[in-house]
Amino acid sequence: MTMIANKLQQVQARIVTACTAAGRDPASVRLLAVSKTFPAEALREAHAAGQRAFGENYVQEGLAKIEMLADLRGDIEWHCIGPLQSNKTRPVAEQFDWVHSIDRLKIAERLNEQRPAGLAPLQVCLQVNVDGGANKSGVAAEEALGLARAVAKLPRLRLRGLMAIPEPAEGFEAQRELFLRAAAVYEQIRADGIALDVLSLGMSADLEAAVAAGSTMVRIGTAIFGGRG
Ligand SMILES: *Cc1c(COP(=O)(O)O)cnc(C)c1O
Repeated sequence: MTMIANKLQQVQARIVTACTAAGRDPASVRLLAVSKTFPAEALREAHAAGQRAFGENYVQEGLAKIEMLADLRGDIEWHCIGPLQSNKTRPVAEQFDWVHSIDRLKIAERLNEQRPAGLAPLQVCLQVNVDGGANKSGVAAEEALGLARAVAKLPRLRLRGLMAIPEPAEGFEAQRELFLRAAAVYEQIRADGIALDVLSLGMSADLEAAVAAGSTMVRIGTAIFGGRG
């Protein structure tokens, strides 16, 4: 077994353990492999081991890998998880399957206009700032419902859920408490009648706390591909 296949198996085992501890079905949590800074060959190795969803932070880097792995295009789901500038939306709308980092209506409207008619709607999550840090990306929790209502109306996007990246916190309980704030916003939007089904929470260091708070998609880089130097 290759190193990456082995790491993927370890992460899957962590997800199962976390779900068991939380009384949840392990099939309710998807694994997104975050491949930023790693070469296309590492993704090919992960794909050969059964991984199908990959997350990239930087648009240019992601586009280069989509091109290098064009032979696997129909069998890979590409997720854009990094901050998006409005002048970079077109290639994302044209090439990616998902965007997790919608933090304002203008970005959503551009993606909606630029999503090619021949493709399925772009699957999107709103990024919510659950720490209240003014210089962090993400819509403020109090403004998330209004943004969700507007994004849900855009026909070439399909609003699936929320993503959050809380500041690193010390210990399971502190981490879980921050993730629960995102889960509360998620429930608020669902209670408004918008059918969300994805809560994108948790990275290598805190996936257990994220699963305990209700995450349905963990975004894991380091624990699969190694450190980014
Ligand atoms: C880098 C990154 C991850 C993965 O982080 P690890 O700690 O390496 O697992 C997840 N989500 C986002 C948005 C990231 O930028």
